[in-house]
Amino acid sequence: MDMLDIDAIRREFPILSREVAGRRMVYLDNSATSQTPDRVVEEIVWLYSQEKANVHRGVHTLSQEMTDQQERSREHVRRYINASSIEEVVFTRGTTEAINLVVSSFGSRFKAGDEVILTVMEHHANIVPWQLLRSRTGIVLRVVDINERGELDMEQYRSLFNERTVMASFCHVSNVLGTVNPVKEMTEYAHGKGVPVLVDGAQASPHMKIDVADLDCDFYVFSSHKMYGPTGIGVLYGKRKWLEEMPPYQGGGEMIGKVTFEHTTFADLPFKFEAGTPDFIGIAAFSKALDFIEDIGMDNIASHEHALLEYAQKRMEAMEGVRIYGTASEKDAVISFLVGNSHPYDIGLLLDKQGVEVRTGHHCAMPLMDRLGIPGTVRASFAVYNTFEEADSFLAALQRAAAILE
Ligand code: PLP
Repeated sequence: MDMLDIDAIRREFPILSREVAGRRMVYLDNSATSQTPDRVVEEIVWLYSQEKANVHRGVHTLSQEMTDQQERSREHVRRYINASSIEEVVFTRGTTEAINLVVSSFGSRFKAGDEVILTVMEHHANIVPWQLLRSRTGIVLRVVDINERGELDMEQYRSLFNERTVMASFCHVSNVLGTVNPVKEMTEYAHGKGVPVLVDGAQASPHMKIDVADLDCDFYVFSSHKMYGPTGIGVLYGKRKWLEEMPPYQGGGEMIGKVTFEHTTFADLPFKFEAGTPDFIGIAAFSKALDFIEDIGMDNIASHEHALLEYAQKRMEAMEGVRIYGTASEKDAVISFLVGNSHPYDIGLLLDKQGVEVRTGHHCAMPLMDRLGIPGTVRASFAVYNTFEEADSFLAALQRAAAILE
């Protein structure tokens, strides 16, 4: 049962009242980025207008206040994901940069012939950095396949481990199929073989509780902008033992201890991995987005989104010509689909003409599209502020689009 006061939640998002194509917009592109509540926007405005000063470099009041705000946010993230210390929470520009950081820095220990396990459902952000490393070092990429429901072939996953395996890197939730992967079990298996694990949590962190201590993963990465937070901010959680061993990712200010032309020492964690002026205002404001999630409660968010998913998916399954990609038993609030032989762009355009905003294309997962034998899909994805009336508007718009394209 839905216990949330969605009207009150929606009042924090003025953008949800705007019109597209002369109708009340229905925003269903939340997997690409979610909207941002007023409290986050107001915090950004407040920080720019009253607090802006560069962090960590000044003794003056403003600089110290801004540094406190940034570091409070780091502590909030630590608490939110249940990391054991703030040294394990590195701010990045997003999931993509966090993965690149791990691949470049942790990956610098890998040699030709070492094997890294990925899955066929990865976002390009968890494929291309590994390919760049492959062209530098000669590592080998092994890929886990899916079944017809879009669930990982766990038998194959286990069979890919051998004495050359040095890392496994996989998404928690697929941005196309919505599949929730058994990442705790996958991590446990990898650890049993002495293999560290990176979990791409970009699509999980907005929809479920993340507990890195419980998952026991070595690295966990996610983006603020998909979690009702500012753009351009992400988090790399890494186990301290690895972060301590790893070389810096970028060089510059903030990440040093002492610099001479002969020799440089590096700052302590987490600053060793935060070269240059960070987006300290975005980082500070991210804490307000976490407040937003915590005030509603992640369990409430998840059950509302699942109710929407079930409602919409059941009705789409009954629509003639609609094919849904991804029907895993553990699935997040994402529906990828095609209609008849229509191109996803045509469906997307016809939905937009009716005020419904969905994503179309390959969703930065071209290898998965190849595996499915399709050029792309239309993707509708839900957030906590979406309503059943919006689901109905989407379904009606889809019926009309399908009739036009028949
Ligand atoms: N990984 C997954 C599963 C994603 O869905 C996305 C974004 O859609 C990313 C990585 C990249 O996130 P960002 O563009 O915020 O770095």
